[in-house]
This record gives sequence, C-alpha cells and structure tokens, in this order.
Amino acid sequence: MCVMKDENRFDLAVIGGGPGGYLAAERAAAAGLRTVLFEKRSLGGTCLNEGCIPTKSFLYSAKLYSGALHGEGFGVHADALGINHPEVLARKNKVVAALVSGVAMKMQSGKIQVIAATATLKNRLEDGFAIEADEIKYYAKNVIIASGSEAIIPQIPGVKEGINSGRVVTSREMLDIKSIPEKLTIIGGGVIGLEMADYFNTAGAEVTVIEMLDKIAGPFDAEISGILQKELSRRGIRFMLGKRVTQITVENVVFESGDGEETTPADIVLLSIGRRPVTEGLGLETLGIEMDRGAIITDDHMRTNVMGIYAVGDVNSKLMLAHTAYREAEVAVENILGKNDVMSYEAVPSVLYTYPEAASVGETEQTAKEKGVRFEVKKLPMAYSGRYLAETENGRGICKLLINEKEQVIGAQLIGNYASEIILSACVMIESGLSLETFKKVVFPHPTVGEIIRETMFV
Ligand SMILES: Cc1cc2nc3c(=O)[nH]c(=O)nc-3n(C[C@H](O)[C@H](O)[C@H](O)COP(=O)(O)OP(=O)(O)OC[C@H]3O[C@@H](n4cnc5c(N)ncnc54)[C@H](O)[C@@H]3O)c2cc1C
Repeated sequence: MCVMKDENRFDLAVIGGGPGGYLAAERAAAAGLRTVLFEKRSLGGTCLNEGCIPTKSFLYSAKLYSGALHGEGFGVHADALGINHPEVLARKNKVVAALVSGVAMKMQSGKIQVIAATATLKNRLEDGFAIEADEIKYYAKNVIIASGSEAIIPQIPGVKEGINSGRVVTSREMLDIKSIPEKLTIIGGGVIGLEMADYFNTAGAEVTVIEMLDKIAGPFDAEISGILQKELSRRGIRFMLGKRVTQITVENVVFESGDGEETTPADIVLLSIGRRPVTEGLGLETLGIEMDRGAIITDDHMRTNVMGIYAVGDVNSKLMLAHTAYREAEVAVENILGKNDVMSYEAVPSVLYTYPEAASVGETEQTAKEKGVRFEVKKLPMAYSGRYLAETENGRGICKLLINEKEQVIGAQLIGNYASEIILSACVMIESGLSLETFKKVVFPHPTVGEIIRETMFV
C-alpha cells in the first residue's frame, strides 16, 4: 500500500538525474523551490556515466598516443609507445566517479532530496501531481520529466542472439569493454559511431563503419564530412557507405547495397544507429501527456500539454545533446518560477571530438538551400591560422561562415583541432543576431586557432 507523508510534498519533482534533470534541480533549489529528484541508475545520467565524458576520456588518450606516434614531424621521437586499454578504462572510471560525486555533492548542498528509484507519475491532484517510487508516494506542484534516451536496437536477424552472447553491444557496453577487439564493425556512421571508431582504431582494432546514407556524420556539412572521412580513412578506418545491414551471423555482418550482398567479419558489433526517448513506465498515458513518435511534445517554454508538467533533454527528442538539455532545464525552471524564458534552437552547436575535431552551428549550405535562404559562403583553410600550422602536420582543416543578406552569420562549420572550442564564437554571433561589421571589431587573442574565425570574416 502507498503512503504519502507531509515531508514528501515538494514544489518540484524532477524525474531523471542526467544533465537536464540535475541542472533543473540545482537551479530550482537555488531559487528556493523544495525539490525532489528521482534517479533509477546513477546521477549524471547518460552524459556523465556512459556518454559525453567517457568517450572524451577515451579520445584524449587516443589523441595523446597519436600525437606521440606521429611526433617525428615535430622533432619528437618516442620508443616503445602503446595504448594500455585497461589503464585507459580505469582512468575513464576515475573521471566518471569524480564527476558523479560532484553532482551528488551539488544535490546535497542544494538540499535536494535524491531518491534512488524509478519514478512513475500517478494522478493529478488539486494542486499538483502524485508520483510513486519504491511504493512511496510523493506530491509535487510541478514536474520536470528528464528521463533521457537509450540506444535503438534494430530488428535485424542475429541481433538478439548477438546481444545475449555479448558480441553485439551498444555504446553503454562498449565504454566498459575490457580489451580491444581485433575486428570491430560499427553499424552507423553518426557522431557516436565515429568517435568510437576513432578511439578503437587508434587503440589497435581493425574498424569497419557501415552507414546507410552516402555520407558520414549525419547532418554535418557535406564538405566537412568528406574531409573527415578522408582523414579517418587515411588512419585505417574502413567505410562502407550506402549499405544496409541485413543480418548478423556468428562471425560476420551481412550488408547489401545496389551491387548485392557483402559480408565483413567482426569480433564485436557496435550498434550506433541512433537513440530513442525513454518514456516507458513513466505513467504518461495516465495523465494524457501527448507524444509524437515516442517523444514528449513540448513548446518553446518546455511545457507539455498538461499544465505543470515540463519535459527537457533527450526525452523530447528536439536535439539529443547534453548542452541542449542544460539550457532546456533552465528554461523550464524559469517558467515554473513565473518568468517568461524561451528556448532557442538556432545556435545549438554540434561537435565531433574525433581527430581532427569537427564542429557545426546554425545553417549548413544544404539546409539553407532547402529553406530558400539567400546566403554567401566565406571559407578559408585552417592553415591561415599560425597556431594551427605550428601544431598540425598536413592538416586539411577548413572554416566556413554562412552570411545572409543582412550581413549576419547564420551558420558556421569547422574541421580541425580545437573546433570544439572555437565554435562557441560562432554560436554567439548567431544567437546575438549582430552584424558581421560588429564582430570584425572584436580583438581575438594571437596566436590562436580561433583567429581563423576573424580571418574568415574578412574574406
Ligand atoms: C556515447 C555517447 C556520447 C555522447 N557524447 C555527447 C557529447 O559529446 N556531447 C553532447 O552534448 N552529448 C553527447 N551525448 C548525448 C548526451 O549524453 C545526452 O544528450 C544527454 O545525456 C541527455 O541528457 P538528459 O538529462 O536528457 O538524459 P540522460 O542523460 O539520458 O539522463 C536521464 C536519466 O533519467 C533516468 N531515468 C529515466 N527514467 C527514469 C524514471 N522513471 N525514474 C527515475 N530515473 C529515470 C535515467 O536512469 C538517466 O540517468 C552522447 C551520448 C552517448 C550515448
């Protein structure tokens, strides 16, 4: 039987302790709301435990190793180099543990009650909602759903058997794998597939990426994807584009294209064809919360169709990125506090932390054309930056800015190291809507790779 006590009454209940959930709880508590947060697995969610942070920890080891391995061009010689995967894994676990405990400390210092259990929305009450977790009832005036997403498991013959045997995995298992497979086949050439391909290739696996589209890196600018594919191919990653996987056998992955059926051997098969919102068991049907293709529908205030219930992060499927979840969480909390904050998706960057890095924000040439927007492209090789040239051997990086008729930046795409950091300046340009003339007056530090943005403005 469920019981509800007075201490279980809150201003806000947050379901999910990932970036969307923990930031919402933090902001709400700081503003004085009595807040409870439910997390069924681990604080930090996908991002800290099995997403952004673990992959970047792996990739930094790969970057250090590659740098030393190819150091001759820079006058650096090293003998007996190697990647020790168990040590890379141990370091990743240490970084994750430190960040997760940091989130726990923030919850504690904000006096946020954290309930380590699965939460289910029950019924609407006079002034709020009832939520159940571990057979205890909680009451909250407002609810933020931040239940995140999970890897899509394709219905391909052999997948189920492969998962049961441990040979077919998702990114979750791949980030905890104890040894480097000899032959790794990755199904899906999007951001997650490519970052995994980069690390495991550098660490010694023979990597094949099978992608259904005719380009890698999903919505990234076609020219940037092409350069990245060449760079990764040069380092030994094999790409099979325009191919559809039809079966996974005990030894092979079977795929087809217009030319017929082909196979590639694989010790481990990584499924990375996308992610879908986690909504099962949340009790959304009970309250009549509207969904579209499995995602909770939200407006630009992060409101669902049920007043008092908000949804942020991957569960609304708008842009499945941690930084989107952070900002959406802030918008939801501000609106709960009675302020009119609005979510804007125009200047949300996407980053690929491969070697070389790539980053994109706003329109690409392809999307601008589709929308009928008139624009001019300003483009320069990254080698126009002195620091890029000093630090990169044979780099083929480029920087592209898309400018509209009002002389505003509407898109930026970069490939080359530090792109992940440099893209921020383009985000500010797009979000502010200020003219190119204004940004031409900004002084950039020298020498930085970021100066490429300044150089490109003057093309
Ligand atoms: C391999 C990989 C690499 C990635 N790299 C990047 C990157 O570099 N940059 C980037 O921006 N994004 C990256 N992402 C995406 C990023 O991890 C997500 O966009 C982000 O974690 C979404 O945050 P969220 O709060 O919406 O959900 P999540 O982080 O998924 O958190 C949701 C939480 O809710 C909990 N939960 C679900 N249902 C319930 C319930 N009923 N009761 C209680 N708890 C519940 C879950 O256990 C989970 O902890 C990556 C993802 C993966 C898989």
